[in-house]
Amino acid sequence: MTLVPPGAVNSDDSDTNCIKRLDEWVRHARRGFARGVCPTCANGLTTQFLDPESTFFPRDDLRSVFVHRSCDHCTDMRYLTVGEILRLRPPVVEFFAKRNRTVQTTPLWDLAFAATDLSTTVRGRNPWAFEVELTAEDDTMRVRLDDNLTLTDIDSE
Ligand SMILES: [Zn+2]
Repeated sequence: MTLVPPGAVNSDDSDTNCIKRLDEWVRHARRGFARGVCPTCANGLTTQFLDPESTFFPRDDLRSVFVHRSCDHCTDMRYLTVGEILRLRPPVVEFFAKRNRTVQTTPLWDLAFAATDLSTTVRGRNPWAFEVELTAEDDTMRVRLDDNLTLTDIDSE
């Protein structure tokens, strides 16, 4: 979830670039959280993994884990998916680019592996470990991550 500052939107429709500006602002904020840098104050972020049942959005049909990143300096925070973090990682970007998909600029809701956890498997909770299955065209790539969200293994078919 991302909230837009109220001052960014005029009460009338005079700003024809409003949607484009807000889109860029939201992308900037989410990329910062995905990369571990607070987009509000540039400090580092604290990462926690949360079971969906412990959140306000317990959709276990869509979520198997939340990546909660928060800033100890300014208190900004976001809930992310493992896939949302993955879409900025070079091996994943390259996998999709070779199949004519640009995942960095594709809207999040058009990337099932990032918008939901339907492609994500929680492999362990102590410590946390994940596997994400990515598909494009007829190809599949499985990526494993540890509790630092570091890629530990990549299998391609
Ligand atoms: Zn901050």
